[in-house]
Amino acid sequence: MFEPCECGSGKSYLGCCGRLHSGAPARDAEELMRSRYCAFSRGNTAYLQKSWAAETRPLMLTLDPAQVWTGLTIERHEVTGPDTAIVRFTATWREGARTGRQTETSRFRREGEGWVYIDGTSE
Ligand SMILES: [Zn+2]
Repeated sequence: MFEPCECGSGKSYLGCCGRLHSGAPARDAEELMRSRYCAFSRGNTAYLQKSWAAETRPLMLTLDPAQVWTGLTIERHEVTGPDTAIVRFTATWREGARTGRQTETSRFRREGEGWVYIDGTSE
C-alpha cells in the first residue's frame, strides 16, 4: 500500500523521510528539514534529538500528542556557506478544534555525511 510521506513530497514515506529516519544522511538542509517535520508528525523524538546540533539539542523532548501536524511548505532554501544553510518554512497544525501555523527560519550545518538543525527564528 502506498503510504505518502507526511512532508508533502508526493513520494512514499519509505522512499522519502523514512530513509533518513532509518539512518541515511540528508543530502541537503531542506531534506533534513523535511525529515524533521515528518519526525514531529510521527512523534519520533529519537530522530529529532539525533538531527539536532549537540550544543542546542534539548536534554528532554516531549511532544504534545494532541497536536497534529497537517502540512509543510518550504518557502526558501538558501546555502549560506560551504557547510551552512537556512530553510524558511511554514508548518500547519490542528489541536482539537483549533488550527494554527508556524513560520520559522531555521539554520542548519553540515556534519559528517549529513546535516543537523542548529536553531530557528519564529515569526
Ligand atoms: Zn518526506
